[in-house]
Amino acid sequence: MLSYWEKESFTKYDYIIVGSGIVGLSVAASLVEKKPTSKILILERGIFPSGASTKNAGFACFGKPTELLADIATIGEEATLELVEKRWKGLQALRKRIADKKMEFKQAGSYEIILEIPKNFEQKIDYLNKLLRPIFHEKVFHVAPQEQIQRFGFNTKLAKMLIYNGFEGQLHSGKLIQSLMEYVQKKKVKILNGCNVNQFRDTESGVEVQVNHEINFWAKRVAICNNGFIGQFFSHYPVKPGRGQVLVTKPLKKLLFKGNFHFDEGFYYFRNVGKNQILFGGGRNLDFEGETTTELKTTPNIINNLIEKLQTLIIPNQSFEIEQTWAGIMAFTPNRKPVIEYCTQNIVVGVALNGMGVAIGTTVAEEIANLLLQ
Ligand SMILES: Cc1cc2nc3c(=O)[nH]c(=O)nc-3n(C[C@H](O)[C@H](O)[C@H](O)COP(=O)(O)OP(=O)(O)OC[C@H]3O[C@@H](n4cnc5c(N)ncnc54)[C@H](O)[C@@H]3O)c2cc1C
Repeated sequence: MLSYWEKESFTKYDYIIVGSGIVGLSVAASLVEKKPTSKILILERGIFPSGASTKNAGFACFGKPTELLADIATIGEEATLELVEKRWKGLQALRKRIADKKMEFKQAGSYEIILEIPKNFEQKIDYLNKLLRPIFHEKVFHVAPQEQIQRFGFNTKLAKMLIYNGFEGQLHSGKLIQSLMEYVQKKKVKILNGCNVNQFRDTESGVEVQVNHEINFWAKRVAICNNGFIGQFFSHYPVKPGRGQVLVTKPLKKLLFKGNFHFDEGFYYFRNVGKNQILFGGGRNLDFEGETTTELKTTPNIINNLIEKLQTLIIPNQSFEIEQTWAGIMAFTPNRKPVIEYCTQNIVVGVALNGMGVAIGTTVAEEIANLLLQ
């Protein structure tokens, strides 16, 4: 039961955003940059942001060679290029908003480890480089010298080739989200945590947003930015959740590589973190059906598979211990494109980052903000 004062002072906004991941926070940032006097509220169900944005690997990536080739085969050249461009532009826009130092962004580069060299692979790399030239203006993918595999300490019997990409970066996902929160809060955006949005009622004069089955907020317009959890509100979008499982090793005696690494069309990914630790995630392709879930838990089959890949491929000559494991939820569409549209008169949905939200998140948020301002 709310008082007159509470209702007057705390529940009425110009814009309400559901979800404080990279997209929700960046929508608030875009709105407040364009319309500084707007009253904006972000509702987040977690005690702090609790979606994929703070559970990811922190790769500022736009696609690995085998993944891009697979995308071209499924959605075509034009759609793939459009996505790469949006990711690349999004990353530049993010770096303009948040200083590299604050989010520990490093242009660390990435390598794709090729376990089985596809037919005519070097020609395919040339083809990709030609295709990407209008976006990057130089060669993106380079075949690395063969000795590099050994220098990194990988199993040379399994790793057949490395493809280097100097444009990819890595960042500290926690610091990125914290910096974005500080950025919008400085501009008077309110963030309320522990607020689980249950339902919406879109009326002619605005939208009523019910939180914790108890309190109704009100805004002229609403953006739903809850990515993998969109199914709790709408079932008609072609968006499927996809769980990602991750582990981090305890500090190793020595770590021979730094930067981002991918293999198996990007289904597996690892990088250096902390002092000589490896963050390693993936394996969703082992059980697509089982991993199409919003359940936040790790499973022995995937974690054991990651451990086995560490032992056999990544650090075959070193013993290691696991420090921690976790899971996060992504959202996928068949055409790999995010869903950004009005779902009712005053509610915009902006979800389905297709597992690469660090780079594309800022572009997606800008599009959502532009729709809200229309
Ligand atoms: C394990 C893993 C590794 C990844 N690695 C990378 C990577 O290296 N590089 C990359 O680019 N991408 C990566 N991704 C994908 C990337 O993290 C996502 O694309 C991106 O974070 C999505 O951002 P978002 O803001 O749309 O959603 P989220 O970050 O998921 O935010 C949604 C927010 O909505 C909140 N919410 C949900 N329902 C409600 C409700 N009813 N009421 C209120 N709040 C609600 C959630 O708590 C959450 O905070 C990875 C994802 C995972 C899971």
